[in-house]
Amino acid sequence: MVMPLPCGLALLGWSSFERSEKSFFAAFGVTYLSLMTENSQEQTLAALGVKQPDQVAPLFAGLLSLAKADLNAANSAEGFEKFRVRWLGRKSGVLTLVTDNWLKPACKELKPAVGQALNKFKAQLETAMEARRAAIESGAQEAVSAKDRVDLSLPGVIRPVGSRHLIRQVLQEIEDIFVSIGFSVVEGPEIETPYYNFEALNIPEFHPVRDDMDTFYVEARRESGAVLTAPGSLLLRTHTSPMQIRTMEKRKPPVRVIVPGKVYRRDNPDATHSFMFHQIEGLAVDHDITFCDFTGTIEYFVKQYFGSGVKTRFRPSYFPFTEPSVEFDVSCIFCGGSGSAASGQTCGKCKGSGWIELFGAGMVDPEVDGFVNYDAKKVSGFAFGMGMDRLSMRKYGIDDIQAFFQNDVRFLKQFP
Ligand SMILES: [Zn+2]
Repeated sequence: MVMPLPCGLALLGWSSFERSEKSFFAAFGVTYLSLMTENSQEQTLAALGVKQPDQVAPLFAGLLSLAKADLNAANSAEGFEKFRVRWLGRKSGVLTLVTDNWLKPACKELKPAVGQALNKFKAQLETAMEARRAAIESGAQEAVSAKDRVDLSLPGVIRPVGSRHLIRQVLQEIEDIFVSIGFSVVEGPEIETPYYNFEALNIPEFHPVRDDMDTFYVEARRESGAVLTAPGSLLLRTHTSPMQIRTMEKRKPPVRVIVPGKVYRRDNPDATHSFMFHQIEGLAVDHDITFCDFTGTIEYFVKQYFGSGVKTRFRPSYFPFTEPSVEFDVSCIFCGGSGSAASGQTCGKCKGSGWIELFGAGMVDPEVDGFVNYDAKKVSGFAFGMGMDRLSMRKYGIDDIQAFFQNDVRFLKQFP
């Protein structure tokens, strides 16, 4: 009589206890999550107070939460690898410790639940790790492609592209004009001998014209410093005319050449003078060249260069190597030859004359033929020497020759 009652009570009590135990563990499970530390796996289940099979699932749920939080903190391949070692490392990885401390020592009642929960945990961890690995790799991929991506909406990097210098452009233009009427282009040395620069051009020593053509003399030296050349035996050419002689020495008539290049004078720099400037020499020698061929050629060039509307004229002049010699003028392209500017004032470019002086020219002096063994009775020719700087200044209204050599980008940009 007595026994069943206590027994019944005991059962009731037990079942009552069991219910409260369940709700307690439900609450305990939540608490367990916060109590779950990285070191929990170093203790046995008994030490952790896990005695019932249904305490196992919350325990592993807490472990999975820890694992996921740790996994999400791994943002790189390196971090992922550290995570893998921390959790799956054979010697002291969390899974090894869980197996050693939770599964192996578990009592008979708990073991199946622990084994099952552990397998589930492994599968969940594997899935989470695979997802994380993919996320890290695609993130790295994105970072790489973001770095390499070309944003076509950005303004481009504008790298200034240089242009040919105006002198070079004018040279090309002049060359094109003369080449189109049968001239060829030759170039010669800038360091000359007095013979080619003066004597062969009928300018003997002590000739007064040498005063106008004073230049720079150079010495050739060995590395030791020993001077190889006699004083005054080499100079920087004062004009491109030496190439008249060098060309006629090498070629028999007919000769039709132009010679562009740098020339030197001992001039102080100002708006119209420079110690270095550019000339273009012209020479035509043949059996029947007349003064008409000469003026016709020059007029053709001038109209090609300045435009067909300009007028030309020549005035008698003097050069030692041409006879007769002339100065060529062109009607002022700025005032149309009227001499007065649009404002009604005197045209500043031609100073009211309506004409602009262009260059000197003439028929080749028969004396020069003697230097190159041409028969002056059989051949004749003409020669001209134009300042390319002056031709450029005349055409483009540039007032200062120094602008060509100062390399001021504001100037150069005007002639793209
Ligand atoms: Zn004018």
